[in-house]
Amino acid sequence: METISFTSLGKITIKTVRNYILDEKLSPQDKIYLHPDNYDDLILEHRKTYSKPAQKPYYLISVLLDTSKNVLVAFNTIHVKKNKNKTPRLTQIELEEQEKESEYSSALDEIFYRCGWCGNVVESDGSLLNDDIREYKISLLRKYENELSVYKVHGDCCPHESDD
Ligand SMILES: [Zn+2]
Repeated sequence: METISFTSLGKITIKTVRNYILDEKLSPQDKIYLHPDNYDDLILEHRKTYSKPAQKPYYLISVLLDTSKNVLVAFNTIHVKKNKNKTPRLTQIELEEQEKESEYSSALDEIFYRCGWCGNVVESDGSLLNDDIREYKISLLRKYENELSVYKVHGDCCPHESDD
């Protein structure tokens, strides 16, 4: 059995979709459909945020994101196709395990850059991250620091330090 639901999220970003997936406990059998413009924006945001192109098909914490040829999805709306058939209902503990695993695997996919002077988490070119992304990256670094790729760069936070 499939159920379909629409939710308006305001502005659709990687973070709002990620939170939505976690809040709604979507499973890998579920699918998210987006308006083509929202989809393109996410792909663009992914490239800016992670400094590498998004892989297609595009998955966010193991849920497939796509545009739909059959259904008209309104702008800034998330359209979820839940597949209840294939997934036995997971227990709360299993869901938490699944979230941890998917968070962990998305953490491993990311590359982290720290300012070599003050340790601030920054972009690959040393420019400053927006607060949401910075907090998200810091929380991942706290949990998995030893397993992640972290590179040192000269951060814009320390403009007066000299490399010589
Ligand atoms: Zn710095």
